[in-house]
Amino acid sequence: NINELIRRCIIKLENQIISKDIHIEANFYEEPTYVYADKDSIERVILNLLHNAVKFVQDGGQIKIETVKSKSKAVIYIKDNGIGIDSEEINMIWDRFYKSDKSRSKDKTGTGLGLAIVKNIINEHGQEINVESEIGKGTVFYFTLNLSKEEFEKVNK
Ligand code: ATP
Ligand code: MG
Repeated sequence: NINELIRRCIIKLENQIISKDIHIEANFYEEPTYVYADKDSIERVILNLLHNAVKFVQDGGQIKIETVKSKSKAVIYIKDNGIGIDSEEINMIWDRFYKSDKSRSKDKTGTGLGLAIVKNIINEHGQEINVESEIGKGTVFYFTLNLSKEEFEKVNK
């Protein structure tokens, strides 16, 4: 159940979320939503994306997580209203050790490996991850997973 996994990840980052006074919202299209995926790897993906969102929003910022079903897939959205990513840099964020100038200058922690690992895991699942962002407005990452057979049959009944 991808929704359950997301709830667990939010709890794991609770201290950071509270200390930055972040408003976090989770919207799930249907409860439960079963996907066919490696649980530990996908937990790592969600923790990485969520941790980035927490890191790159201002105090008092907002994070929204959403799961929807579409045909044979679940789509997971992780959206923040943080600093955003420059269009000239956006293709490089997936590279190992890449950190934007902004994230360097603001003494943000991290090695720049998170998104490389995330992309790798999603690709190993035969799925896709994408990002849309606007400087000063925020960023949304979204990726797909295959629904479990039971879910697939429900959606396509
Ligand atoms: P690590 O994940 O290894 O701790 P990191 O968070 O800097 O370090 P990545 O997660 O790979 O590395 O992200 C790469 C870069 O992409 C970040 O340094 C930052 O510049 C940019 N980035 C990633 N997520 C966001 C986001 N939600 N908002 C703004 N910039 C982001
Ligand atoms: Mg990271």
